[in-house]
Amino acid sequence: MSSAPKPHVPLVILGAGVIGLTIAYIAACDSDVIFDITIVARDMPGDWDSQAWASPFAGASWSPHPLGATDERVRRWEQITFDRLWEMAPSGLVKISPSKILGETDAILSTIWWKDLVRDFKLLSESEIPAPYKVGIAFNTVTVNPPDYLSWLRSELEACGVVFRRQYIRSLDEVKSLVGKTSLLVNATSLGSRSLIGVEDTAMYPIRGQSIIVQRTGLQEFITVRSGGGLSEHVTSITPRPGLTQTNTAFLNGTHQIGNWDTSLDMSVAKGIFERCSVLAPCLKEEGTKILRHNVGLRPDRKGGPRVEAEHISLPLQRSDGLAPYMRENADGEQQNLTVIHAYGMGAAGYQRSWGVATEVLSLLKENVQTGC
Ligand SMILES: Cc1cc2nc3c(=O)[nH]c(=O)nc-3n(C[C@H](O)[C@H](O)[C@H](O)COP(=O)(O)OP(=O)(O)OC[C@H]3O[C@@H](n4cnc5c(N)ncnc54)[C@H](O)[C@@H]3O)c2cc1C
Repeated sequence: MSSAPKPHVPLVILGAGVIGLTIAYIAACDSDVIFDITIVARDMPGDWDSQAWASPFAGASWSPHPLGATDERVRRWEQITFDRLWEMAPSGLVKISPSKILGETDAILSTIWWKDLVRDFKLLSESEIPAPYKVGIAFNTVTVNPPDYLSWLRSELEACGVVFRRQYIRSLDEVKSLVGKTSLLVNATSLGSRSLIGVEDTAMYPIRGQSIIVQRTGLQEFITVRSGGGLSEHVTSITPRPGLTQTNTAFLNGTHQIGNWDTSLDMSVAKGIFERCSVLAPCLKEEGTKILRHNVGLRPDRKGGPRVEAEHISLPLQRSDGLAPYMRENADGEQQNLTVIHAYGMGAAGYQRSWGVATEVLSLLKENVQTGC
């Protein structure tokens, strides 16, 4: 007996950062629904110098953030992602690194909600903790190298027929002509959600991150310093990266400047980063270290935490201020219902939540797929 043909559902994903791409990947692999996916974005894998998006500038490893202590959903996203990335290590896209967190105070011990999430967690004994630190935690973590990883996601998606379309979308009214009758849109525009008309989420704010990429043999350990329980403006961490295209590279971090939109490079800040990281890894100052890049990126954070939820919107948008821009798409005067699945506001943790967020978005998409399309 032949089974019923699977429905084809057009799906537009706005945003080609790690969140939009991972959602596309999970949706493209779904076995119940065939999603015909178009990714619409201003910045795409390959645009490594554009500071208008965050994904090229990440560490991009799993490390603990305070939100996981209080938000069960975030914890689930991170566990799913950690396990998935761990499994991907044999591909060479993910590096498993021995890791160390050193604390100037014992505040980090009050936030170890993540001890069962990572692998091989252990508290360091006094003799294993370098001066001047008071506490130390060791574990194994996962890291990807954003250009290699995002390029891989893009090529996998293209291989299964996902279409990439470069376009800046000013207003949700503009997507009417793209989404068709199914009217299913994923909004993964991160900081773009502040200015996208119809979303206008003023809870979104940047956290400026300046960093240095170096090439240096001998850096094997992910190592980070915490002055209190959370993150201060000056972060000190070294993240060795997997290298498909370049070997022995590491990410020296950096800054965590809340509300700072400045994407210009500050070489005096770079000097501070290099000096602080060299205290943790003196080999950085030895001959042979190459500075490959200085980066500044904006982490897309959100007051109240990430937004992952469905919203039902009627197009054309109705505005009490009468200031909706003219859109050709509205010329027919027809009303259309649009289902938007929002997935943005991942702050400093977009990579480490990506597979978990994408899994949740797929469930929301399937709940909202209209029958008969
Ligand atoms: C210095 C630094 C270190 C970091 N370290 C880590 C780390 O170690 N681990 C970790 O997990 N995360 C880390 N992050 C955070 C991580 O980079 C982000 O959380 C993640 O990249 C967010 O991905 P995204 O897809 O939501 O957004 P983005 O990468 O910003 O992508 C947004 C997409 O939407 C598009 N877009 C926006 N508006 C529009 C519009 N109106 N029309 C069309 N397209 C639009 C953009 O062009 C882009 O394609 C770090 C970030 C920085 C800056």
